[in-house]
Amino acid sequence: MQMPQSPSPILVTGASGYVAGWIVHELLKAGNTVHATVRNLDDETKISPLRSMAENLPGELRLFSADLLQPGSFGEAMQNCKIIFHTASPFRLAVEDPQRDLIAPAVDGTRHLLEEVSKHESVKTVILTSSCAAIYGDNQDLQNTEKGVFDESCWNTSSSLGHQPYSYSKTMAERTAWEIAKSQASWRLVTINPSLVLGPAINPHATSESFHIMEQLGGGQMQAGVPDLEIGIVDVRDVAQAHIAAAFNQNAQGRYLTSGHDFSFLKVANILRAEFGDSYPFPRRTLPKWVAWLFGPLFDRALTRDYIRKNISYPFRADNTKAVNELGVSFRSAQESIREMMQQMIDSQRIKKSP
Ligand code: NAP
Repeated sequence: MQMPQSPSPILVTGASGYVAGWIVHELLKAGNTVHATVRNLDDETKISPLRSMAENLPGELRLFSADLLQPGSFGEAMQNCKIIFHTASPFRLAVEDPQRDLIAPAVDGTRHLLEEVSKHESVKTVILTSSCAAIYGDNQDLQNTEKGVFDESCWNTSSSLGHQPYSYSKTMAERTAWEIAKSQASWRLVTINPSLVLGPAINPHATSESFHIMEQLGGGQMQAGVPDLEIGIVDVRDVAQAHIAAAFNQNAQGRYLTSGHDFSFLKVANILRAEFGDSYPFPRRTLPKWVAWLFGPLFDRALTRDYIRKNISYPFRADNTKAVNELGVSFRSAQESIREMMQQMIDSQRIKKSP
């Protein structure tokens, strides 16, 4: 892909996040000025990796503080920006209060951001980091698809506040964004809908749920076995590439399901063992569904019995043709993403050898 350069500054919301880190990296590498919003400008653990990265790249990084829950919060950072990447949204599966912790920041946050866009004539393109979670809720939803595969025509209709609230937050946020986008003609909206994002982070202390999942796989919590769960996976650098291609290619339109590989937790575990050997407590087998049903909820609040019933032992299939053909994404191998992510987690002592 040609190095994408914009004469105007580019806004990236949630810049301290895992996915945003690589978007900022690619933009700075191409010499752009990036207006990066973070929640707390004093949080050095989150901001210093961004600053160090910027020191070695030709572009300019300007930091701003902004909170999704505060209307008008993104105004200063949006000044003179033509392109916006809106990645900020909580990615956590186990929360205390789904309305407060997920739905409000995702949905109200998207609305606040887009209301601000309407006040800035400079803005022409908004790329929203949505999710595969806005495309489907449970693996069993695959049975209701026309072609037996999830694609951009699918919408998640099975999640709710009480069942898969993270997926519900992403669905409602994306629907809100399309509603607002369709009510105006001065800017275009494109959504990137990644499956589970893996691969190394700009910040080795990244707190995204992606790292939590890999910590469970590498830290021994799943040593007895992984759930028999099929998922889509995609490399974080490929997700960044998709965002940037969507912004700089004026023909990009609609949603882009961005998933590199139809995979499973057992396949991830098998790659981890093949790459790193038996010194780490990686799982070796899948758990029978009844064991997952019985013990899942005790192990992880997000693994409810309803979730297990509708997801375990059901296939997952996703069609990434549109992202490949229109955005030119060429997906890295799963081995590369998994190996490099786990290596980073071992190097930063997040994952330790078995005693
Ligand atoms: P992440 O590292 O946790 O990033 C989330 C970002 O959102 C953080 O920068 C966080 O800021 C920010 N944020 C959360 N609540 C906020 C608030 N109230 N105000 C302002 N900022 C707030 O997770 P990620 O994996 O990079 O996720 C980024 C985006 O990708 C999300 O929209 C997520 O839904 C989407 N996505 C992720 C995956 C995946 O597998 N990782 C897959 C599909 C889609 P703080 O650092 O201050 O908390």
